Amino acid sequence: MTKTLRHFINGQKVEGVSGRFGDVFNPATGAVTARIPLASASEAALAVEAAAKAFPAWRDTPPLQRARVMFRFRELLEGHLDELAGLVSSEHGKVLSDARGSVLRGLEVVEFACGAPHLLKGAFSENVGRDVDSHSVRQPLGVCAGITPFNFPAMVPMWMFPLAIVCGNSFVLKVSEKVPSTALRLAELLTEAGLPDGVMNVVNGDREAVDALLTHAQVNAVSFVGSTPVAEYIHRTASSRGKRVQALGGAKNHMVIMPDADLEQAADALMGAAYGSAGERCMAISVAVAVGDQVADALAERLQPRVANLRVGPATDPTAEMGPLVTREHLQKVSSYVDLGVQEGAELLLDGRHPSIAGNEGGFFLGGCLFDKVTRNMRIYREEIFGPVLVIVRTPDFETALKLVNDHEYGNGTAIFTRDGDTARSYAARVQAGMVGINVPIPVPMAFHSFGGWKRSLFGDVHVHGMEGIRFYTRLKTVTSRWPTGIRTGADFHMPVMK
Ligand code: NAD
Repeated sequence: MTKTLRHFINGQKVEGVSGRFGDVFNPATGAVTARIPLASASEAALAVEAAAKAFPAWRDTPPLQRARVMFRFRELLEGHLDELAGLVSSEHGKVLSDARGSVLRGLEVVEFACGAPHLLKGAFSENVGRDVDSHSVRQPLGVCAGITPFNFPAMVPMWMFPLAIVCGNSFVLKVSEKVPSTALRLAELLTEAGLPDGVMNVVNGDREAVDALLTHAQVNAVSFVGSTPVAEYIHRTASSRGKRVQALGGAKNHMVIMPDADLEQAADALMGAAYGSAGERCMAISVAVAVGDQVADALAERLQPRVANLRVGPATDPTAEMGPLVTREHLQKVSSYVDLGVQEGAELLLDGRHPSIAGNEGGFFLGGCLFDKVTRNMRIYREEIFGPVLVIVRTPDFETALKLVNDHEYGNGTAIFTRDGDTARSYAARVQAGMVGINVPIPVPMAFHSFGGWKRSLFGDVHVHGMEGIRFYTRLKTVTSRWPTGIRTGADFHMPVMK
C-alpha cells in the first residue's frame, strides 16, 4: 500500500484532513510512491498559528543559543547526507552525486547561519550629540513563509529557513508537492537538533495552501522560488498586503563563447551546465551563444558526440550522468518544445526523444537534445524549457552577443568563455544578469554571498542568503539615548541637530 505523508506542525507529524491528496512519483520508474495531503486554508492557518505562538520565546532566545541549534543541525545534515540525497533522488530523479551536491550547498547556508551572533551584531556610535549615543540593531520579523520549487527539494528550502530561524523568526514552509519528503525529514532533524516546537513547520499543499499563507495577517514575510508567472503573482499578492517579499523566478541562461575560448573546455562546461540535473536547474545554461560561424561549427562538432554519449539512467545506476524529468507532464512539455523547435525551423542536431532505458521503461526519461541555428524570434529561444535541451544561437560579434543576452526577458545567470581579460571585464560590467561566470559555467554564489537574478528572474529587491538573507529576515531599529538623564536642555521645537 502507498504511504500517506503528513504535515509537520508544532513539532508533530499531523495528518491532512482536507480530503484532498496528490500523488508523489518515482520519476525513474513512473510508480506512485506516496500520497501527499493538500492542505486546506484552515490547515495552513494552523501552521501559521503554531509559528506565531512559538515566535516570542524564540525571538528572546540569545542568538548564540539559536546558532548552537544550527551547529547541531549541521552535524545531523552531514550524518544523514546519504539518506537526504536518496530522498531527493527518489522524488526528483537527479543522479545521486548531483543530489548529494545539492544537499551540501544547502548545508553551507546552515554553516553561514551558525555565524548569526556575529552577523546580527549592531552598530554603536558614541556621542552623536553631546551625551547622546545611538545604536542600531536588526530584529526578527515574526512568522516568515517559504514556498519552494520541485527542482531542489533540500537546497532551496535551506536557502531560506536556516537564516530566517537563526535571525529569531519562526517559519512555515510550503514545499513543492512533487518532492515533499526531504523537507519533512529536514524539519524532523531540526527538532532533533533542539529547535523548539512550532519554530519550523512544513505544510504540504498546492495553490490553496499558498494563498492562505500569502493572505494570512500573521505572516510578515514571504520567500518564493519557482516559475516567473507564479513569482509575479506571489509578489503582487503578498506585497499588496504589506508583507516583505522576495520572489525568484525562471531563467534562460546564456553562455557566450568567444573565438579565443578553449573550445574543448567550453564544450565540457556546456555539457554539465546544460544537461546536469536533466536541465532542471534555474542556473542551467540553455543557450550557447557562439560568436562567429567558425566557433559555432567547431562547438557543434564537439558537442554532438558528447551529447550522443550522455549516460541517461536512474539515480540508482552509479554510472548515470543524467536522470529522468520530474513528472510525465513535464516530460511531455519538454518533448513538445523539441517538436516545436523542429517546426520553427531550427536544426535538430541531436534528438533525445524516445530514449530506451532498459529496466526503466515507465520512467520519465528524455535524452539530451541539441539545436543549432536557433534565432531570437523562436519560442524555443525565448521561453524557459527547463529540460535537457541546449540551443546554439550564432552571432557575428561580441556586441551582438551582449545585446542578445541583455534583450532577453530573463536575467538570472550568464557566463562568458574567453581568454581575453578586456572582453571578460566588459561583459561582467555591462551584462544585465544577477550572477555572472567568467570561464565558470554555473556561477551559483556561495552561501556567504547572495543568490538572485535580475529582470523577470526576481521580483522584489533582496537576493537570498549571505548578508542579503540576513537583511531580508530582519528589520533595522536605531535607538538614540541620552545619559545621564539629569541634564536639563529645555524644550526644543526645531529639528534636533547636534549641539
Ligand atoms: P512552480 O512555479 O510551478 O512552483 C513553485 C511553487 O509554487 C510550488 O511550491 C508550487 O506548489 C507553487 N505553485 C505553483 N503554482 C501556483 C499557483 N498558481 N499559485 C500559487 N502557488 C503555486 O515552479 P516549479 O515547476 O516547481 O519549479 C521550476 C521553476 O522554478 C522554473 O521556472 C525554475 O527556473 C524556477 N526556479 C528558479 C530558481 C531561482 O533561483 N530563480 C531556483 C529554482 C527554480
